[in-house]
Amino acid sequence: MKVQASVKARCKDCQRVRRRGVVYNICKNPRHKQRQGTKQRKKAIV
Ligand SMILES: [Zn+2]
Repeated sequence: MKVQASVKARCKDCQRVRRRGVVYNICKNPRHKQRQGTKQRKKAIV
């Protein structure tokens, strides 16, 4: 999975989802898998 500063849809099957405040791009093409942001915070909300 790629980590990008900005997530963009690259084809019609790309889908942007938001989980725990992080934007993901999921697609049937594995090359299109992306995640927005540089750092992954597991315990963001206490
Ligand atoms: Zn795609």
